[in-house]
Amino acid sequence: MSHENCIFCSIIQGDIPSAKVFENDDVYAFLDLSQVTEGHTLVIPKKHEEDIFSLQPETAASLFRHVPEIANAIDKTFSPKGLNVVNNNREYAGQSVFHYHLHLLPRHGDEDGFA
Ligand code: 5GP
Ligand code: ZN
Repeated sequence: MSHENCIFCSIIQGDIPSAKVFENDDVYAFLDLSQVTEGHTLVIPKKHEEDIFSLQPETAASLFRHVPEIANAIDKTFSPKGLNVVNNNREYAGQSVFHYHLHLLPRHGDEDGFA
């Protein structure tokens, strides 16, 4: 299930510490190290799948069904004015970790550093 040399698989296994936002049998959500905006959260399937092109429909379904709940937890904690959901696929499109993930980016206003 887990993939050798994958940072996110190591995070799921607890070998790399992370700030957990949500967890169940299929999904893990945690704060992004980079915090592009305050509350910047990554949502990942526990099953290692590389990108949108190889993501299995069942994995997508189990992941996305929890996105509203995670967005609401962020909303409650950080009270953003809005929130973007971003997903980079392949290096050309900005993907740097090749374990599928969604970025949840709370938007706090012009000062939030996200164009
Ligand atoms: P990508 O560029 O692939 O769309 O996003 C990967 C994200 O993973 C980046 O925003 C980066 O900050 C984040 N990231 C990389 N390594 C770690 C880590 O060890 N811990 C956490 N919390 N985030 C990480
Ligand atoms: Zn992985």
